[in-house]
Amino acid sequence: MTLTSSLSLLKTEGARRFITQRHRMRIGAEWTGAVSGKSLDVTDPATGQLLARVPAGDEADVDRAVRAARDALEGPWSKMTGLERGKLITRFALRLEELADELAEIEAIDCGKPVGYAKQIDVGLSANTYHYMAGWASKVNGETVNVSTPGDFLAYTTREPVGVVAQIVPWNFPLVLTAYKLAPALATGCVAIIKPAEMTPLSTLRLAQIAEEVGFPPGVVNVVTGLGAKAGAALAEHPGVDKVAFTGSTGVGKMVARSAIESVKRITLELGGKSPMVVLPDADLSKAIPGLASAIFFHQGQVCTAGSRLFVHKSIYNEVLDGIAAEAGKLKVGNGLNAETTMGPLVSSLQLERVMGYVEQGRKAGADVVIGGSTIGSEGYFMQPTILANTTPDMSVVREEIFGPVLCAASFGDEDLDRVAAQANDSSFGLSASIWTNNLSAAHKLAKSIQAGSVWINMHHFFDPGMPFGGYKQSGWGREQGEEAIRAFTEVKSVVAAL
Ligand code: NAD
Repeated sequence: MTLTSSLSLLKTEGARRFITQRHRMRIGAEWTGAVSGKSLDVTDPATGQLLARVPAGDEADVDRAVRAARDALEGPWSKMTGLERGKLITRFALRLEELADELAEIEAIDCGKPVGYAKQIDVGLSANTYHYMAGWASKVNGETVNVSTPGDFLAYTTREPVGVVAQIVPWNFPLVLTAYKLAPALATGCVAIIKPAEMTPLSTLRLAQIAEEVGFPPGVVNVVTGLGAKAGAALAEHPGVDKVAFTGSTGVGKMVARSAIESVKRITLELGGKSPMVVLPDADLSKAIPGLASAIFFHQGQVCTAGSRLFVHKSIYNEVLDGIAAEAGKLKVGNGLNAETTMGPLVSSLQLERVMGYVEQGRKAGADVVIGGSTIGSEGYFMQPTILANTTPDMSVVREEIFGPVLCAASFGDEDLDRVAAQANDSSFGLSASIWTNNLSAAHKLAKSIQAGSVWINMHHFFDPGMPFGGYKQSGWGREQGEEAIRAFTEVKSVVAAL
C-alpha cells in the first residue's frame, strides 16, 4: 500500500508531523506498542491509501491499561480537589483551542470530513464540552435529606467517582464522542481508558499527548487502540472496569451490555438512530429546505442523529423534495482537506458497499430514486447525495439505519397530529427528531408525542454541552452531556448518623 497523497494537502506542520510519526498507545506513564507486537493499518477514506499504522491492542494491553488506571485512581488524582481538576480540564480545553487547526486536519484526513466543519464542530464542540464540564468539577455535591423515620438523624448523600471507565467510541466523531465521555469522567474524578474506533484512532492518540502535556497524572487518560472484537470486547468484559460508556451501533451495544452485566458494571449506551423530520404545511420552506438537506447530508449522513426519514405534508411534498435536491446539487464533493469541499467520502469501502446495498434494496422495494444513488470516481469512497421518494414503512431503507447520505421521503395527508406522530414513532429507534412549522401549538404537541431523546423545532442537529443527549427505545441507555453526565459518572452514597 502506498502512503496517502492527501498528506500533501495538509497545511499545519503539526498534523503532518503527528500523522507520519510512529504511533504508540498511552498506558499509564508509557507510550507503548501492543504486547503482541501487531499493528493495524489506518486508511485515508479520500484515497483508499495507507495513512498510518497503530498498535493492535488486545486483552493483554487492556489488562495493563486497567491496572494503570486503577493505580491512578488510587494515587494523587484522588487527592486533587474538584477545583484543581477543573483547572486542569480548562487548561486541556484551551490547548485544544490553540491546536484547533492541527486537530481539525487530523480529524479531517482520518474520518474524511471537510476540514472547516472539523474545526468548527469536532474541535469546537469538544473544547466547549471540556470547558463546560470543568465548571462542574467543583460542584459535584450531595444533599442533606429529611428522613421519614422518627428519631434524631443526620442524613446526607455524597457523590463519588464511579471509578475506572472504559470509553468505546465510533468512527464518525472521534473527538466529540470522546469529549462526551472523557470530560465528565475527569470532572467527577474518574479515570479513563479510551478505545477509539479502529478506522479513526489518530485524533484520540493526539488527545492523549495533549493530556500528558497539560499535566494530567499518568494513568488518568489511557488510550488502547485495537479492533472492537479484541480490545473493545476485552474492556467490556474486564472485571477491573467499573463502567462502560459506549457509543456505536445498536448491535454492538447489546453485545457490550451483555458482557458488562457479568460484573454488573455501570453502562451508558449511545446507539443508532433513524430520526424523523416532520414538515407541516405552514413551514417556512426558505429555512426548512436547507435545514432538511443538511440534516441528512452533513458528514455524508454518517451521523447518529441524521434526519433520515422525511415526512412532508402532501401539499408541499414536491416542492420540498425539489428544494432538497437543489441543495444537494450545491454540495462540493471531494477530499475534506480541500477548503471548498462540503461533502467528503464515506469512511471505508465496506461502509460504501453497505450504503449502496441499501440504495439497491430501496430501488427493488419500489422507492423512486429522485437524485443520486451512485458512487463517484474510482479513488476513495465517495457517493452521491441520494433521495429515495415514496418510501413505505415496511422497507428496509426506512426501518434500518443506513448511516450514509440517503434520505427516505414520504408524504402525509390531512390526518391529525397524533397520526403524524405515530408515523414518526414507527421505528425501533428514538434518538432525535425535528419538526418544521410556524404553528407553535402543533410544534409543541408533536414535541410531546414524539419518542426521541432530542427534539428540535425548525432546526436539526443542535448539540450543546448543557443539553442531555441520548436515546429512547433501542437508541440507548442513559444520557451524556449536561448534569445528567455528572450523575452517570458518579455513585451516590447515603450516609445516616444517629444523633
Ligand atoms: P460499531 O458499533 O461498529 O463500533 C463502535 C465502537 O465499538 C468501535 O470502537 C468498535 O471498535 C467497538 N466495537 C466493535 N465491536 C465490539 C465488541 N464486540 N465489543 C466491544 N467493542 C466493540 O459502530 P461504528 O460503525 O463505529 O459507528 C456507527 C454507529 O454508531 C451507528 O450505529 C451510529 O448511529 C452510532 N452512533 C451513535 C451515536 C449516539 O450518540 N447515539 C453517536 C455516533 C454514532
